[in-house]
Amino acid sequence: MKSFENIDVKSVREAVSLLQKFHQQKKSAAVVGGGSEYLQLMKDHVVEPDYLINLKSIPGLDYIKEERGGFRIGALAKLVEIEEHPAVREKLLILSSAAGEAASPQIRNAGTIAGNLCQRPFCWYFRSSNFTCLRKGGQVCYTVTGDGRFHAILGAGPSYIVHPSDTAPALVALGAQIKIAGPTGEKMIPLEKFFVLPSVDYKRENILNPAEIVTEIFVPTPKAGSKGFYHKVRERLAWDHAIVAVATIVESSGSVVRAARVVMGGVAPIPWRAAKAEEFLRGKRIDEATAKQAGEIALEGAKPLKDNVYKVKMAQDLIQRGLLASA
Ligand SMILES: Cc1cc2nc3c(=O)[nH]c(=O)nc-3n(C[C@H](O)[C@H](O)[C@H](O)COP(=O)(O)OP(=O)(O)OC[C@H]3O[C@@H](n4cnc5c(N)ncnc54)[C@H](O)[C@@H]3O)c2cc1C
Repeated sequence: MKSFENIDVKSVREAVSLLQKFHQQKKSAAVVGGGSEYLQLMKDHVVEPDYLINLKSIPGLDYIKEERGGFRIGALAKLVEIEEHPAVREKLLILSSAAGEAASPQIRNAGTIAGNLCQRPFCWYFRSSNFTCLRKGGQVCYTVTGDGRFHAILGAGPSYIVHPSDTAPALVALGAQIKIAGPTGEKMIPLEKFFVLPSVDYKRENILNPAEIVTEIFVPTPKAGSKGFYHKVRERLAWDHAIVAVATIVESSGSVVRAARVVMGGVAPIPWRAAKAEEFLRGKRIDEATAKQAGEIALEGAKPLKDNVYKVKMAQDLIQRGLLASA
């Protein structure tokens, strides 16, 4: 690992002003929360920053507060704390489940919610120092001719990464917002608008500018009559990223769907919202046939690679399972 300087900051403002200063000086710098993902990238020589800005030394940024209308979760709240928080479990089960499905117990004990949303792709070509892939400044995405069995089937090209976060699909399904602090102050935006498709910019996964950091997630409390589930398929049970994951939330009046959210993980470079399937479900009663049809609609337009055709059926089945569970 290349040597670097670690800086323990005491406030968000200090972190932002250091990022701005290093950017102006053309020095490379990155923030870390738990460091569970970023330090691995450093060890693998994928990133080699001059400065590491440790956010964990900021006091009080790890809160989980229930307020009128929803939950405020500080950037440094750990995955395990979100998973085990009694009110989150009771009112945001889908988020608690997603946090509990991420990585291993050790990583959930160190990993933060902001780090989970801002983590880099887990594509083996991107992570390997043997390949200078498109995302690392090379000419090609090796997935196209190489081994793309875990890669994207929706919204891909020119890069075929999938977004690795478990909490992101659940939070997008919940209609969460994300707070970003930068040199000009703070802004709150829908989390759905935070992620960037490779067709827009294949070198980044989100809209953060060099001197911006995530400080909070706001999750509105789901309406009465809502049920949400998070289902994840992975290769190994010990710890693994989603091959396919599906977050479903169904808000019903009696047995009729008032509104539904269907968001997939592991299938696209961003958490992938199946808007047409959501529209199809409105006003319907969910049974086997409706749930199956919603899954088929959600996967319309999928363009699998030669090695990952199986993901289409897997995603359809998980959507069906999630909707039937909600019903
Ligand atoms: C072996 C292994 C398995 C994993 N499996 C899964 C999995 O199954 N599911 C899953 O969802 N994740 C998985 N992860 C990814 C990840 O480590 C965890 O999800 C964790 O939540 C990341 O949080 P962190 O605080 O440790 O992130 P860090 O390593 O500190 O940071 C990750 C990224 O986010 C950026 N970042 C961190 N905080 C902020 C902030 N406040 N503002 C802006 N940018 C920020 C960093 O610069 C870095 O790019 C896995 C990681 C490993 C190493």
